[in-house]
Amino acid sequence: MFTKLLIANRGEIACRVIKTARRLGIATVAVYSDADRNALHVELADEAMHIGPAPARESYLRAEQVIQAAIETGADAIHPGYGFLSENADFARACQAAGIVFVGPPASAIDAMGSKSAAKQIMEQAGVPLVPGYHGDDQSPDVLKKAADDMEYPVLLKATAGGGGKGMRQVWSAKEFDEALAAAQRESAAAFGDDRMLVEKYLTRPRHVEVQVFCDNHGNGVYLAERDCSVQRRHQKVIEEAPAPGMTTGLRQQMGDTAVQAARAINYSGAGTVEFLLDEDGSFYFMEMNTRLQVEHPVTEMITGQDLVEWQLRVASGEQLPLAQQDIPLKGHAFEARIYAEDAANDFLPATGTLAFLQPPEESAFVRVDTGVRQGDEISVYYDPMIAKLIVWDESRERALQRLAGALAEYRIGGTVTNVDFLYNLATSQPFRAAELDTGFIERHRELIF
Ligand code: ADP
Repeated sequence: MFTKLLIANRGEIACRVIKTARRLGIATVAVYSDADRNALHVELADEAMHIGPAPARESYLRAEQVIQAAIETGADAIHPGYGFLSENADFARACQAAGIVFVGPPASAIDAMGSKSAAKQIMEQAGVPLVPGYHGDDQSPDVLKKAADDMEYPVLLKATAGGGGKGMRQVWSAKEFDEALAAAQRESAAAFGDDRMLVEKYLTRPRHVEVQVFCDNHGNGVYLAERDCSVQRRHQKVIEEAPAPGMTTGLRQQMGDTAVQAARAINYSGAGTVEFLLDEDGSFYFMEMNTRLQVEHPVTEMITGQDLVEWQLRVASGEQLPLAQQDIPLKGHAFEARIYAEDAANDFLPATGTLAFLQPPEESAFVRVDTGVRQGDEISVYYDPMIAKLIVWDESRERALQRLAGALAEYRIGGTVTNVDFLYNLATSQPFRAAELDTGFIERHRELIF
C-alpha cells in the first residue's frame, strides 16, 4: 500500500479521501489555492502545499504544479477526486512519468471515454446498446442535419467534448435545427474549446440509471448495483438514490454485465461509472462512461457497506478487487441530496456568501454528511457552490425517504441562499414518494420550487 497520498482536489471530496487514507494508515498531503488557505481539507491533511491563486486554472488545474508538490513531499500516489484533473489523460501520463501512481484508470481508458463520439464508436464495436444517433467524424452541417431528419424529431444535439450538461440543445423540428446547432456549437466552443457535435434521438421520458463498475489489474471486473439520478435540473443531478426503484434482479444483472463489458472494452481499472438512459419499456442505452469516482458514490457505499475510496487505493496499489461479484452485499436503500448555495426560485442561480451559521443534522448509522466547509467558511465565486452532500440510509425506500426529509428539516444554514427548502419539497412530494421518476421530473413539477 502507498505510504503517502496527495489529494489533487478541494472541498468535500478531498476531505472524504483523506478520511479513508487516514484509516488505512496512509499519510496525506493536501494542495490548496489562495482562497483555500484555511480550508477544511488543508486542516485535515497531515501536510499541505500551496499551488497558486484562487482561479482553478491557476491552481487546481495546473498539472505540473500538482506533480511538483507530490515530488517535493515524497507522495507515492495522487488521488484526483472528481472534476479538475480527474479525467485528464495527460495528467495521468505525467504522474506515471514522474514515478507517481495516479489513482484512476490507465490514461488510454480516459482518452477513449473523453470524447462522447469516440466512446460511442468503441461501445458500438463492443456490442453495447447505444442511444440511436449520429456520432461520426464528418461535422458538416448538412450531414448533421440529415442525420437529425432521418431519425425524426425531437433530437438532442450534444457536445462531443461535453460535460456538466453544457453544449446540449433539444431540437423539436427541422426548422429549428440550424439555429440550435449554431447555439450548441457556440456554447461548446466556449466551454470546451471544441465545437464538435453528436446527434441523438431525444428520449422524452427516460430515467438516468448508472452502474458503478470496478476493475483491477488482474482481469477482474464487477458492478456494485446501480444509482438512479433522474432528478435533474439543467441536466445536472439533484437527488440520487440506490438501488434504482423498480429495478428487477434480471435487469440489474443485464445492465451490470453490459457495464462491465463496456469497461473491459477499454481495459479499464479502478472505479468507473457507466451511464445509461433507461426507457419506459425497459430498454437501456449507453450514454457515456465517467472514468473517476462520482459525486454520488456514497449511496452505493451505503447499500453495499463498502468504502469505494479504499477499493480505489487497493486496486491502484496493485491488489485484487476486495470482493467477487456474488459476494457484494446489497442492503436497504440510500439517498443523496446535494446541498447547494443556489437560488432555486431564480433558475437555480449559483450563490455566494459566508456561512455565518451552519448546523448540519446529526450523523448516525442512518445519516451521513460529506462536506468540505465549516461555519464561517466562504462559498466563493471560484468553485462549485456545493455546501455538502446529505446521505441517508434505511431498510426500505420509504423509510430512507423519511430519514431524508427529517435530516433536511434539521439542516440550518445562514449567510447564503440554499436549495434546502426545495430539496425538502422534493423529498416530501407525492410524485417523488411514488418514485415517478424520469429526467423531466423537476421541469414537470416546478410547483415544488416555491
Ligand atoms: P454531460 O456529460 O454533459 O453530463 P450526458 O450525456 O451525461 O451529458 O447527459 C446528461 C443528461 O442529459 C442525462 O442525464 C439526461 O438527463 C439528458 N440526456 C442525455 N442524452 C439524452 C437523450 N438522448 N435523450 C434524452 N435525454 C438525454
